[in-house]
Amino acid sequence: MLIDEPMSNHTSFKIGGPASVVVVPDTIEDLCEIIKALKDTKYTVMGNGTNLLVSDKGFDGTVVKISGGLNEISVSDTVITAGAGALLSKVGAVAKQNSLSGFEFASGIPGTVGGAVFMNAGAYGGEMKDIVVSSTYVDSQGNTGEITEHNFGYRTSIYKGTDKYVVSAKFKLEKGDSKEIADKMLDLAHRRAEKQPLEYPSAGSVFKRPEGYFAGALIEQAGLKGKQIGGACVSEKHSGFIINKGGATCDDVLKLIDFVRETVEKQFGVTLEQEIRLL
Ligand SMILES: Cc1cc2nc3c(=O)[nH]c(=O)nc-3n(C[C@H](O)[C@H](O)[C@H](O)COP(=O)(O)OP(=O)(O)OC[C@H]3O[C@@H](n4cnc5c(N)ncnc54)[C@H](O)[C@@H]3O)c2cc1C
Repeated sequence: MLIDEPMSNHTSFKIGGPASVVVVPDTIEDLCEIIKALKDTKYTVMGNGTNLLVSDKGFDGTVVKISGGLNEISVSDTVITAGAGALLSKVGAVAKQNSLSGFEFASGIPGTVGGAVFMNAGAYGGEMKDIVVSSTYVDSQGNTGEITEHNFGYRTSIYKGTDKYVVSAKFKLEKGDSKEIADKMLDLAHRRAEKQPLEYPSAGSVFKRPEGYFAGALIEQAGLKGKQIGGACVSEKHSGFIINKGGATCDDVLKLIDFVRETVEKQFGVTLEQEIRLL
């Protein structure tokens, strides 16, 4: 258990003031106990912090960090079962070792299974929706259950806005050729490194894709590439990303998000909706 822990240590943006407590459950039983004990107190659940922007004031409550624990992965025929804390890269590696195809699109997304199911994470034409057949959860009372209908939509799932937290997920994949799977993963990793500013802290794409447009293209056409407020900057490499160029605060990022949104709305009449989650 970490006390007064800077959230900048737990987010890919490297931004965020202190949380009163950060706790990492090791097992499902631990998680259920912790959630039960936190009933009627202020708390939140996070994965690997790769889609999170945390306030400079921090979080006046307990952060239950699932990444680091609950990361067991097992394979049965063409189904992989993974704990909510397992990194997608690790699940991807297991899929590759077992010649299972279908997970390639997700293997370069830097989040956990729990965060990915919650967000319906997707890339290169694939989404969690295509491969998740069921998930288990714990709710705020400490009760557990299973879900097979996830109401997946663009960057959303049945978990959004509920008191249920993902504990594990089952992915239905297909038998494939391990060399082809490995090649595809490598190709996607190269494409990511070429297009995305992976050398800087960020939380990935800041905005959802507006219907009929690409957020990054609109931001670029609005002349905002490289626009900087404090330490926060619209990436020169991928305008859909805001990067932390060094010492960026949450306030810098929020100001830049507002500026980008207003400029794009004025120039193109398109409203950009935030993809990253605020804490
Ligand atoms: C360089 C970079 C590239 C990225 N590329 C992509 C991409 O290609 N496609 C894409 O979709 N995303 C991408 N992302 C964003 C991010 O990786 C995904 O949204 C990922 O699914 C978030 O997982 P996480 O574990 O980091 O979640 P976190 O950031 O820790 O949390 C995100 C949200 O999920 C909730 N959550 C986390 N775990 C659970 C759980 N177990 N149960 C219930 N709710 C939970 C949190 O409360 C929070 O609201 C990228 C990010 C970065 C930094």
